[in-house]
Amino acid sequence: MPHDQDIEGDTSKIASEYECLQCGKIVSAKTHPGECSDCGGEFQNRAKSLE
Ligand SMILES: [Zn+2]
Repeated sequence: MPHDQDIEGDTSKIASEYECLQCGKIVSAKTHPGECSDCGGEFQNRAKSLE
């Protein structure tokens, strides 16, 4: 089952999960989401902490 679409040939830009350090909100984004839209807290890339 093919799931890959043409995303301008850039296969490194896959979505990562980021977790808000303050409220625990999880967002999925290709780039760092900046600050939490709910509490203004800082996001941490969950993938990095799982290595
Ligand atoms: Zn938050």
